[in-house]
Amino acid sequence: MPTPLLELRDLHVTAGGAQILRGVSLVVNEGEIHALMGPNGAGKSTLANVVMGHPGYEVTAGDVLLKGASIARWSADARARAGIFLAFQYPEAISGVSVIQFLRQAIAARKGLEELSVLEVRLDLAEWMERLGMDAAFAERHLNEGFSGGERKRNEILQMALLEPVIALLDETDSGLDIDALRVVARGVRTVRDEHPAMGTLIVTHYVKLLEEISPDQVHILIDGRIVDSGDASLADRIEHHGYDAWRTVSA
Ligand code: ADP
Ligand code: MG
Repeated sequence: MPTPLLELRDLHVTAGGAQILRGVSLVVNEGEIHALMGPNGAGKSTLANVVMGHPGYEVTAGDVLLKGASIARWSADARARAGIFLAFQYPEAISGVSVIQFLRQAIAARKGLEELSVLEVRLDLAEWMERLGMDAAFAERHLNEGFSGGERKRNEILQMALLEPVIALLDETDSGLDIDALRVVARGVRTVRDEHPAMGTLIVTHYVKLLEEISPDQVHILIDGRIVDSGDASLADRIEHHGYDAWRTVSA
């Protein structure tokens, strides 16, 4: 067996004194796409944030491993440099920083370089923006300022494409999107994956439509801080038709 890209081992997590994750185990291997589904408040964002190293969450038991090495004590910064990428559920606006400036710094940090010229970034950026159907003028706009829902999400996919993550976590990158924008996100993820076949992906979503486009290798259901079921994409269909009720009894 090859070493998994990402492994969560019996992960227990608290935030603000409350127990949120109650023993989550999960393995994402090279090239695999995993979907994480579950009702609101189940702990999906918590899981993504903990893998990224958000300081607001405390790992009280268990471990997070990247390519076999424990990273549970690493800073978010170190994790980003090691290739963990998180697309946020609610990306924040950063005033005064343009899309291209932000990407320049983020890519330089990811590649361990002092600095990266605008020229070096621009070529790759232009290519990816075209692939993702984004207007060239977008690069000069201030990060997430006045971006529509669709633009924010495309921008997250653009970051993912250019940062070449080892493992990409997408937290409801599809929330608030209409069907066309949803398709753009799904295809964007596919396109990036095709370009980087070894990348692992963990996508948090409520939309079976998105999963139809992405065709994940595995689907997991998180309820009340525990993974109560895992299976292939047909699991998502069952959720769409029957909701989460059938699993709630399992977690109670
Ligand atoms: P989901 O993404 O599945 O909707 P979250 O991970 O956002 O769920 O939240 C799970 C639970 O943990 C919720 O009850 C939420 O209020 C709580 N929670 C999340 N983050 C914090 C925090 N930083 N401090 C206290 N409670 C939190
Ligand atoms: Mg969430």
